[in-house]
Amino acid sequence: MQPRLDRSLTPEKDNSLALCVQNLSFYYGDRKAVEGVSMDIYPGQVTAIIGPSGCGKSTFIKALNRIGELEGNVRVEGQVRFFGQDIYSRRVNLNRLRQQIGMVFQKPNPFPMSIYDNVAYGVRVFSRPSRSTLDEVVETALRGAALWDEVKDNLGKSALGLSGGQQQRLCIARSLSVKPKILLMDEPCSALDPIATMKIEELLHQLREELTIVIVTHNMQQASRVSDYTAFFSTDESRIGQLVEMGSTTNIFTAATNSRTRDYVEGRFG
Ligand code: ADP
Repeated sequence: MQPRLDRSLTPEKDNSLALCVQNLSFYYGDRKAVEGVSMDIYPGQVTAIIGPSGCGKSTFIKALNRIGELEGNVRVEGQVRFFGQDIYSRRVNLNRLRQQIGMVFQKPNPFPMSIYDNVAYGVRVFSRPSRSTLDEVVETALRGAALWDEVKDNLGKSALGLSGGQQQRLCIARSLSVKPKILLMDEPCSALDPIATMKIEELLHQLREELTIVIVTHNMQQASRVSDYTAFFSTDESRIGQLVEMGSTTNIFTAATNSRTRDYVEGRFG
């Protein structure tokens, strides 16, 4: 499907946004999971996606680097522009797209190989760097993911021997090694204990200096701690997977316009 170009967009706005999502709907077979979402994602900011279970948060962010298509029989309507580029254009190279818009999942998923090879993996897909260049890339990515000091003497050991929190930071390092512009994170702390969660949250504060981050979280305290903007998704009898309200995190948590957003952030449902 070729999404239509929206002529009403001003090129300046469109090109300067990390992501400009317009009227995005996502279907699994005939079943709609996300309906008509429009959202601007600002560069260098952390945007949190919150909302009750099953309201399409995960589906939505997986549409932002086209990884949702791996589910098979799916259909996407609408438009997603990445710094002005239509990511659903037929000309888009999906490997390159997912290099620039990386993703970290709920459950850490390191490859069954060494710590070093996990981080080097993506770099080797795109180039044939010398060993010294690769060593540098691996070290920088591991430092970027706040894992270097813990693993620098064990780079040849299996990644599967790391703790859950270390594995998740390794997955972040694996994404960082190919220098993405955006990092999509789908509940990255839901499988982690509070200490490991705190480390990831601290890491987000550092990463925001260089990256745009979109994070799905069911933890509202986490959203309020780590994000600049918050988007509230919900589902009701008439509409599936809709964006109810988006704004600065402070506004959403203290002065939301929509009563459903207020009820949710105040813990009255969900
Ligand atoms: P959330 O992340 O908010 O919990 P999801 O995006 O995971 O919500 O799910 C939204 C809806 O899409 C749910 O009804 C879910 O059952 C459905 N869904 C999610 N993944 C699939 C899939 N691979 N195939 C079919 N339906 C799916």
